[in-house]
Amino acid sequence: INSSRASDLEYVFVNPKTVFTRSFLDYHGMLQFRGHISVHAINFAQKEVMWKDDNEHARWQLEYSIAQLDLNVLQVSDIMMWCDFSDKDTENRCMSICLEKPLADDFVQEYHKWFQFNVITAKEAKSMYEIVIDGHEKVSSRCSTATPAHGGRPRKDGTVKKRTNGWFLAVHPESGLIVGVQEMIHPENNDLAVGMLQDAAELLPALDCIIYDRMCCALQAVRKSDMLQDVKYFCVDKFHAHGHGTNCPCSPLVHKKLDKRLRDVNTSVAEQTFASFRNYARTFNAMSPQTSFFYVLLYVQKHNELIRKNSVSHLSPFGSGMLAEASSLHGDASSVLEVGSSMR
Ligand SMILES: [Zn+2]
Ligand SMILES: [Zn+2]
Repeated sequence: INSSRASDLEYVFVNPKTVFTRSFLDYHGMLQFRGHISVHAINFAQKEVMWKDDNEHARWQLEYSIAQLDLNVLQVSDIMMWCDFSDKDTENRCMSICLEKPLADDFVQEYHKWFQFNVITAKEAKSMYEIVIDGHEKVSSRCSTATPAHGGRPRKDGTVKKRTNGWFLAVHPESGLIVGVQEMIHPENNDLAVGMLQDAAELLPALDCIIYDRMCCALQAVRKSDMLQDVKYFCVDKFHAHGHGTNCPCSPLVHKKLDKRLRDVNTSVAEQTFASFRNYARTFNAMSPQTSFFYVLLYVQKHNELIRKNSVSHLSPFGSGMLAEASSLHGDASSVLEVGSSMR
């Protein structure tokens, strides 16, 4: 059972023999968020540099992941989710987090619910007129092909790709803020898109335009939703529209009305955001579905915080910015980063 508040936490004991310091966890957590560095990469670097004895780090990966998750769950609970409760209440709840199973008791569901009302402010929501949505794994997005029932394409050797921990994001293109996230258990499908859009419509009072590269496939399902009646423009973005023919109901290349609506909408920050999250796939796939979705939510919040500070450097794995700051504080950062990059 947890015995510390997030602000007081300096050490995380994984067991009586292994302890991580707060700054070590903060530092590596930052690297993973910024550099898409997998635990395997960090593991490799440490094996080469720090722990010559194999036995010393045999359990490192598991123990590090546990400690990092404990710290992050405590931070999310104490600093974000439960911060509006009375201090005594927050303390009681924090002290009841079970460190062996920090995500027990539907913690991720509670976090997701809280998240949906707190991911952006009401003021931000009011000035959002369009959103771009996208799932992390691509299935066919052209209107000419029927939507496959299962996105797991058979591989060359005939086996079907196994299930991945996926997510579905909605991004406000002008600001780059992520306004909604859904867990994607099945490959991209219309129910998921409709659910995502309904949540967004509830959050964004002025929403009138939706941009989605599978828009035409989902159009029929989307139009049936009462909550989406105020949306006037359903579009495929200009870039993807080239793959859609002259019959596409959502192509700005075909319909003047859509072209005009999209004239001042730049989707490149949204595309970069989707791409940057796709880079986490390998790290996230090594986790349980619950843990993976916890980190998707947490990383979306980190992303939005940076966007509000006018920083987009985290969107490019090789850009400067946060990591440059981190490495000036910690001299050994560059060696870890190089290993991380070469292993990507
Ligand atoms: Zn696309
Ligand atoms: Zn189309």
